[in-house]
Amino acid sequence: MGTFVFDEQCQRGHHSCTLHHGSSGTYLPVKGPSLMATVTFDKATRLYPGGDRPAVDSLDLDIADGEFLVLVGPSGCGKSTSLRMLAGLEDINGGKIWIGDRDVTNVQPKDRDIAMVFQSYALYPHMTVADNMGFALKIAKVDKSEIRKRVEEAGKILDLTQYLDRKPKALSGGQRQRVAMGRAIVRNPKVFCMDEPLSNLDAKLRVQTRTQIAALQRRLGTTTVYVTHDQVEALTMGDRICVLKDGILQQVGTPRDMYDSPANVFVAGFIGSPAMNLRTFQVGDGHAKVGTVDVTLSREATAALAAEGAKDVVLGFRPESLEPASPNSPSAIPLEVDMIEELGSDAFVFGRVPVSHGGSGIDPVTSADSEIVARIDPRDVPKKGDVVWFSIREGNQHVFSTKTGKRLITTPVTTSASPA
Ligand code: ADP
Repeated sequence: MGTFVFDEQCQRGHHSCTLHHGSSGTYLPVKGPSLMATVTFDKATRLYPGGDRPAVDSLDLDIADGEFLVLVGPSGCGKSTSLRMLAGLEDINGGKIWIGDRDVTNVQPKDRDIAMVFQSYALYPHMTVADNMGFALKIAKVDKSEIRKRVEEAGKILDLTQYLDRKPKALSGGQRQRVAMGRAIVRNPKVFCMDEPLSNLDAKLRVQTRTQIAALQRRLGTTTVYVTHDQVEALTMGDRICVLKDGILQQVGTPRDMYDSPANVFVAGFIGSPAMNLRTFQVGDGHAKVGTVDVTLSREATAALAAEGAKDVVLGFRPESLEPASPNSPSAIPLEVDMIEELGSDAFVFGRVPVSHGGSGIDPVTSADSEIVARIDPRDVPKKGDVVWFSIREGNQHVFSTKTGKRLITTPVTTSASPA
């Protein structure tokens, strides 16, 4: 990959990079003081005409200069609307949006200095790759030689040099996706807005391309807001992830934050694959009753539950937080095997706590059934119908309120178990 028009110093955390005017300007690089391309959603709200509740409801979100921020959540949660509000493609009914210290709430899309990459690449079929990539610059009346220079530089970065004179139909899906990226890159925008840009690629190419996009963004240091419904994509690409549900922000944090300390039951169930086991268990005497096993809750959790007067708790434990245990161990939870999923490097067992072992009080909370999933050694898999025994690794429980769904503890709880 070659060097691009961005100053070598234009890395995350350095604000002394060469700056460029945006779509409203000349596109010629200008030296200037350190203009920050932060993005701020300030109680930004979008209510579609005829809607009974906002598609995006009072979104407060600060995105740092150079950050890769991923908006993630299930279909219809308001990701695209949020991105389109930032791009100026959607009206805002309340609140404001800022890019740097500029209130862009009422600024025309073309004057916001952002570049969009969509799921559908929308390349012009009759134009060559080079013309597609340079088209926005041509419209902005940028000098031909400058356009060629930028297109060639972007072509080098994206490994498209040998395809610049081809038409899109003679490219693979992955190459077309890179042309769409190139079209955004040549504009040197303050902010990239990417809406599910990998959805049209097959699984293998998607994995490769997400790594390339993340690496490219880090190299360019351009503030990026990236929309996906795929939590694995979010975890692997984002500096931080913002989880939305029903237009409401659930949690913002690093991938590690989201994984280790999900703020509520929804985030806990959404981030991680296979999903965290989340079940409602009865509480008593500082314990959660998991079948025959009493899982000790932390003092913090017990105090929070007592303050709520709660008789039950949502306990979460990830498939990878279950470890094989001896049936004689007091902390062992029995699991009757329904199904094994073998993935080569990993295997997962799906099963239930047998009722005969006292599995009372187990209700599904976020999933349709009451199955528990555990990661197991792929070289030692049980059979359907077997009973296998697991214990929850110490310090690996997540504790949530059954009333509010919120995380009750700031630190992981530890568990010890005693026979019921
Ligand atoms: P996501 O990108 O997370 O799938 P969207 O932002 O597209 O979700 O949509 C959020 C909500 O707004 C959904 O309930 C959707 O049906 C609604 N919505 C999206 N676009 C429009 C529109 N143009 N008119 C009315 N409602 C819309």
